[in-house]
Amino acid sequence: MLSFQESILRWYDENKRILPWRDAPSPYSIWISEVILQQTRVDQGTPYYLRFLKTFPNVNSLAEADENSVLAVWQGLGYYARARKLHEAAKIIASGGNAFPNTYDSLMSLPGIGPYTAAAIASIAFGEVVPAIDGNAYRIISRVFNIADPITGNAARKGINSIAKEWISKSRPGDFNQALMDLGATICKPRNPICSSCPLQYGCEANFLKNFHERPVKISKKNSKHRFLIFDLHLSNKKVGFVKISQGNIWRNLFLFPFTEYENEELFVREVERMQEQGALMLCRDLHVLSHQKIHFNTRMLKSTIKPKGMVWRDLNRLEQTPVPAIITKILTHWEYKISRLI
Ligand code: SF4
Repeated sequence: MLSFQESILRWYDENKRILPWRDAPSPYSIWISEVILQQTRVDQGTPYYLRFLKTFPNVNSLAEADENSVLAVWQGLGYYARARKLHEAAKIIASGGNAFPNTYDSLMSLPGIGPYTAAAIASIAFGEVVPAIDGNAYRIISRVFNIADPITGNAARKGINSIAKEWISKSRPGDFNQALMDLGATICKPRNPICSSCPLQYGCEANFLKNFHERPVKISKKNSKHRFLIFDLHLSNKKVGFVKISQGNIWRNLFLFPFTEYENEELFVREVERMQEQGALMLCRDLHVLSHQKIHFNTRMLKSTIKPKGMVWRDLNRLEQTPVPAIITKILTHWEYKISRLI
C-alpha cells in the first residue's frame, strides 16, 4: 500500500494544474504568484499575475518602480499593504545585488513574507525540505486525522505542522507542497470534497466518518470593526475629485473621494438624513467588507465648481494610473449610469 506521501505525489504527477508560474518557475515568479493567491482564487488571480510579471518582469524592475505604478498594477486585487510590502522587499533584494534569498530563514527576514510564502519559495525554487502550510494543508490534514481541536488553536496547529513535516517528501519537497495546494483546491474543497477521486480516501478518517463538513473546526472570529463614512463624489467636466490618503494602513497612498467618518451609526444616519433634507443627491447606503472591518457608507454626488483643499481632478475615463481601492471601484461601477448623467 502506498504511503500518504507517495499517494499525494502520484496523484500530483497525473493531475497537477497547468499554471503560468509553473512554466519556468523562478523564485521571483513563485513569490509574486503566492502573494497574489493569498488574495484571490487561481482563475481570478492569473490575469493579475500575468499583468504584474509583464510590467515588472524581475526583482530589479519592481525595485526601481515608483510606488504609484506598483499600486496601479495591483489595482483590483485589494489589500494594498501586500503590494507595498512586495515593493519594499524587492528594494531590499535589489540593494543586496539582486541575489534572491535562498533559504526559508533568509526569506522570512523580508517584509511581507510569512511562514507559508517563505516555505513555498524555499521548497519550490530551492528544494528546501520545509512544508508550506496554508488553508489547503490545514483542511486536508485535519480531515485525514479527524482533528477536533479548533484550527485557530495552538494544539491543532502544532499537530498539523508536525504531521506535515513527517509527510513531506525529502526528494521532491516543492512538488509535495504544490500537490497539497492542488489537492485542496480541486478535490478536498472546503464545501464539497470529492472523496471518491481523492488519493487519500482509504486512509481518511473524515471520509470514513462522513464528517468532513465539520473539519477543520473553526471558531468564528471576533466581530469586525464597523465604520461609517460619507463620501463626497465631486464631478466636473468628465472629471472626478480624489484625495490621496497619506496615513493609515488600509488606504495609505491610494486615492479616495473626500470623505467624512462618523463615530457611530446614529450620527451617520442623522447626517445622511440632514443632507437629504437639504436636497443633496445621495446614492444608496452600502456595505463594503474587509477582513477586519465592515465599512458602511453612503455617497453624496456633487456637481462641483469648488475644489476642496488637497483634492485633485482625475479623468473618469483614464483612471488606470490612479490607484484606487475596491470600495471606490465599486461605487464607480455600480452607479455608472447615474454618474454619466451628471458628469
Ligand atoms: S478523502 Fe475526502 S475529506 Fe479526506 S482528504 Fe480526501 S477529499 Fe478530503
